[in-house]
Amino acid sequence: MERKNIFYAGEQTKAVHAGEFPDPSTKASAPNIVMSTTFVVDSDTGFSVEGMDENDAWVYTRWGNPTIRQLENKLAAIEDAETAIAFASGMSAIVTLLFHLLKTGDHAVISDVAYAALAEISNEMIPGLGIKITKVNTSDIEAVAAAVQANTKLIYIETPCNPILRLTDIAAVAAIAHNAGAKLAVDSTFATPIATRPLQLGADFVIHSLTKYLGGHGDALGGVLLGAKRELVSIRKKTSIRFGGTISPFNAWLIIRGMATLPLRMRVHQENALKIAEYLEQNNKIRRVIYPGLPSHPQYELAKRQMKNFSGILTFQVKDKRDVQKIAERLQIIHYAVSLGHHRSLIFYLNSDDLLQTSFKFVSPAQYDSWNAFAGEGIFRFSAGLENAEDLITDLEQALGD
Ligand SMILES: *Cc1c(COP(=O)(O)O)cnc(C)c1O
Repeated sequence: MERKNIFYAGEQTKAVHAGEFPDPSTKASAPNIVMSTTFVVDSDTGFSVEGMDENDAWVYTRWGNPTIRQLENKLAAIEDAETAIAFASGMSAIVTLLFHLLKTGDHAVISDVAYAALAEISNEMIPGLGIKITKVNTSDIEAVAAAVQANTKLIYIETPCNPILRLTDIAAVAAIAHNAGAKLAVDSTFATPIATRPLQLGADFVIHSLTKYLGGHGDALGGVLLGAKRELVSIRKKTSIRFGGTISPFNAWLIIRGMATLPLRMRVHQENALKIAEYLEQNNKIRRVIYPGLPSHPQYELAKRQMKNFSGILTFQVKDKRDVQKIAERLQIIHYAVSLGHHRSLIFYLNSDDLLQTSFKFVSPAQYDSWNAFAGEGIFRFSAGLENAEDLITDLEQALGD
């Protein structure tokens, strides 16, 4: 029987069905995992990726694989992107994009607070290749415009940014980038496609760490780069296949499975994060709570405009430094661990002095002021999981007790 095209109108339908189809030979309803690294090919198959086309037969898994393709198709559908390339990790997606776009003599503007590994490679390793980097607070649109130079090829932002949850106006920065003939890349890991669609706001590339909300269960590393076919076909052939940061088909399969419930999970992540943020905001041991869904967030208006869901991550500062260790040691349900976006709640303390020494290098007093406004001496980054909010609050309550 001919399979009818499914009309993928709704987000939940896309999350469940996009990229998937019953196996043609077995009629299995769930996707297969194709673990094979190599494929039996016709005798006239060439050993070069140059002429490779998306619809060609499979050759070698680093070039492409049926299970990885299913993940890429699901990701492209849910982000409303033309196409996607999946990677072994979020960092692999980021590094591939940066090395593809930037050549010696080029300049890039990068958010002064961003994922630590990106911040660290852009402090020394990338400038060491003769590529100039300017780090700016990208929430400050005038600072972004002032940082652009004649040779600027890329503006790179994260919104909300890890770890301080400062937001950047994507449409405003896209206009600056395109005026300058530069591309805009947005790391949308914290927002997810359920909250924000950067491509529709003018971004050229979107990046997610699939390790976080998209996989959603803390058991598979992965990354993705999304954007226009014209650009991504070239990135795949010239850079990603050669760099080799290929995701394991097994991880791709786990992430396909995790993504089916993404829209449902994001609703509960948001609901739990808001309840916890409100609880902490009225607790007299807490100095400051930052959550895009709280009216007290300094950019609440932008959050409402740019985010359809406020996601599940909040930060808080304690008044008494001794409470830092107490909370870390006493929590029972909430895991004291790095990472975020899992079904389990995770919390981790980030000390400002440490981060400003190792990862974030500020040059202006305004940059320090902005950091202090969002993070003070240090923050707990809390990723609200899918447990009952009341249990999470009870756990925090006992950890904060005397
Ligand atoms: C985790 C994270 C990354 C890196 O992803 P990995 O999968 O750990 O390589 C990049 N950006 C943001 C915002 C992240 O939270």
